[in-house]
Amino acid sequence: MTSDPVPPVRVRFAPSPTGALHVGNARTALFNWLFARGRDGTLVVRVEDTDAARSSTKAERQALADLRWLGLAWDEGVEAGGDHGPYRQSERGHVYRAHAVELLEGGHAYQCFCSPSEIEADRAAAVAAGRPPQYVGRCRDLAREDARRRVEAGEPVSIRFRVPRPRDIVIDDLVHGRMRVSTAEVGDPVLLRADGSAAYNFAVVIDDALMGITLILRAADHLSNTARQVLLYEAFGWRPPAFAHVPLVMGPDQTKLSKRHGAVSVAEFRARGYLPEALANYLALLGWSPGEGDELLPLDELARRFRVEDVGRRAGVFDPEKLSWMNRHYLKAAAPGRLASLVAPFLRQAGWLTDATPEAEAFLAAVVPLAAGSVDRLDEVPARLRFLFAFAPTHALADATVRREAQTARPVVEALVADLRSGGAPATRDQFRAVAARIREQTGARGRALFQPIRLALTGAPAGMELDLAVPAIERGAALPAGNGLVSIPGVLERAEAFLEALKGR
Ligand code: GLU
Repeated sequence: MTSDPVPPVRVRFAPSPTGALHVGNARTALFNWLFARGRDGTLVVRVEDTDAARSSTKAERQALADLRWLGLAWDEGVEAGGDHGPYRQSERGHVYRAHAVELLEGGHAYQCFCSPSEIEADRAAAVAAGRPPQYVGRCRDLAREDARRRVEAGEPVSIRFRVPRPRDIVIDDLVHGRMRVSTAEVGDPVLLRADGSAAYNFAVVIDDALMGITLILRAADHLSNTARQVLLYEAFGWRPPAFAHVPLVMGPDQTKLSKRHGAVSVAEFRARGYLPEALANYLALLGWSPGEGDELLPLDELARRFRVEDVGRRAGVFDPEKLSWMNRHYLKAAAPGRLASLVAPFLRQAGWLTDATPEAEAFLAAVVPLAAGSVDRLDEVPARLRFLFAFAPTHALADATVRREAQTARPVVEALVADLRSGGAPATRDQFRAVAARIREQTGARGRALFQPIRLALTGAPAGMELDLAVPAIERGAALPAGNGLVSIPGVLERAEAFLEALKGR
């Protein structure tokens, strides 16, 4: 006995380029990518831009850039090329028309002359009568001769699929299991509109079939389209692919994640300073679990473990807290130079970086990781580095509590100034600790009474990163040559003196 050879895995991601790539769509793309990577398969990216009024090249470019940023490269499709192109539906009109003609000739489709106002009136009547708003079938049984005459007379004509009745359509979905839909529930869908453009349900079947797609893995909001699509496969005599409809990504209120819930596009998360590996890892776990208690896993490992059958039916609720937790993990693991270049745009925006010279880059690679270890997102890093680039002695003193605290601690600040003047600037953690130890001896201040005034004097802020780290960073910044591309960073002595002056002035 011989068994059929298993065809190579081919999956696709089919974005409609009508706006920024939503994280829910990104998750669909990711699942397809994981599935393909884990099985030596091919991922095709096809652009579904049949809705010319809502599609744009800009949105397409953005969506593709977002996919690449997430680390999801595709093997075939737009920009990548391949043997099954073109990969934009707007360039495939001739293919759809040829296939519509084939269905017409085989009796699986018919010409429909109903005007938009007739259709609308039918729909309203159906709704009023409590019937499903399906096409009433007015043109379903028009004589061929009549239809020909009306076409010749120049009447607008669309092509509709003749849904066979009555019978059940069986769909075996890898997530939802076996489903039955009666053809009585399916109105005859338009395949080609009167303007010659293809409807989604038609174009998607032609494309998936001609592109040899073996599994359609997409969001559950397309479940209701699947029966019609399966009927089309049958009408052409094609074997339908496997289907897997993954649950939608929801907001905390169990409605589809949308702008109301906050950031929803990949571009927004990118702009806020989430790392691509964090967002991808997070999205992979939304509705699927790699098992064995692991959560923090790189894409290749996720791909090794991914099984469609393990995707749950319950919708995944988008949890920004968990995403932030993952982001913190990946921020800690990221290479210093990479972090520095990711933070650079935020520093430019703050006006602290004008030119990324090698000196500026080296300095940022040293200090950005100190701040990145304690934030959820990269856009929080500038606030943590403010003490370096925007030291303002009077700023903290504007706060009455800080002012009171600083006045009682004035002896510590005076001792600090004197020590820095005579002993030189502390360039290392140990040198700074020696400075602090001498001041403690001289003034008797210890703990918070010692370190808070030192912090205020050197950073101009009542809180921030450990002084052990901050002080050497300040000195390193102060030692940078002029013209390094960063705003000038005053050294510790200059800071302490300025702070003491400000304190006296109060
Ligand atoms: N273009 C459709 C969408 O963005 C996808 C359709 C499909 O995957 O079949 O929702």
